Amino acid sequence: MSAKCDFCKGTMGKGGTCIAVPVDCDEADGAVKSYPQIPYGSETHHSLYEQYRHQFPSESEEKIAKRVDDFLKRLSIGKYNPADATCHDCGVRLGGFHHPGCDNEECPKCHRQLLSCGCLHSNGSKED
Ligand SMILES: [Zn+2]
Ligand SMILES: [Zn+2]
Ligand SMILES: [Zn+2]
Repeated sequence: MSAKCDFCKGTMGKGGTCIAVPVDCDEADGAVKSYPQIPYGSETHHSLYEQYRHQFPSESEEKIAKRVDDFLKRLSIGKYNPADATCHDCGVRLGGFHHPGCDNEECPKCHRQLLSCGCLHSNGSKED
């Protein structure tokens, strides 16, 4: 069984990519601002940075970045070859854009999980 993406008309879970669309986010002042979508593999892993910064408050930015890097490397070792990696949730290839609703997509505004961060404008999502 494979799910079809209504947005790009592609089949999810088969590699490839969705269509890049700006992500509309609600701003504090009530306005809606568009951010460029973050492709798979280009995430900043901001929540990881925050976690390590909290854990090691006296360390430099470089040291924290190295910790995040090492953690991600450990995660990926033995699991996949980065050259043919695909998103664990929506199946796009490395460098591709996630299909709407993917739980692996990073919010371009706050850099947390887009599905749960709450930034997404309710009427401006890919759902149309
Ligand atoms: Zn799609
Ligand atoms: Zn995805
Ligand atoms: Zn967000």
